[in-house]
Amino acid sequence: MKFGFDIDDTLINLREHAFNLYKQKLNKQLSRDDFLAIKRVEIHEPFGLSDEQGKEMWNSSLEEIYFTDCPAFPGAIETLLELDHQGHDIYYITARPKEHGERTKDWMKEQGFPIQDDHFYYGMKDEEKVHIIQDLDLDFYVDDKPSVLRTLSNTSVNLVVKDQSYNEEVKVARIVDWVDFMTVMNNE
Ligand SMILES: [Mg+2]
Repeated sequence: MKFGFDIDDTLINLREHAFNLYKQKLNKQLSRDDFLAIKRVEIHEPFGLSDEQGKEMWNSSLEEIYFTDCPAFPGAIETLLELDHQGHDIYYITARPKEHGERTKDWMKEQGFPIQDDHFYYGMKDEEKVHIIQDLDLDFYVDDKPSVLRTLSNTSVNLVVKDQSYNEEVKVARIVDWVDFMTVMNNE
């Protein structure tokens, strides 16, 4: 079968990693609970930044956010290695900007994710992911963003949402923990 994965906040814990970087950069004492209480994808609010300032902060920190030591979610690498081992095709579809695409691929390989060079897509807009996913004729696709999953609701791909504070309303198969992926997949 063909499996597709978003990267940020689906396979790796990017927002929390960025939140911790912001704490250092802005010298703010915030707790993990403050992070978990954020109910939107953007993380700037607890730092007292406006949406515009938040966007600026994100873009000026991007290189550091992407290419330092952001952890994969527990079980994510192991799950993809197992799928690979079972002979399935694994695709990555990330909306990270084009200029960071190849370096992201290398970074993901370094983390231990199984990656075939021509199975790695980047640089599209969130709403353009649907075209790649349909062209690839994926059996399963996992993402965290409600707006992306919504564009796929009328397609034949089996959707799985990686549980996050901002996607509670998404009504598709859900994984809180990557160790549950195989069970969820087998029940679809
Ligand atoms: Mg994502």
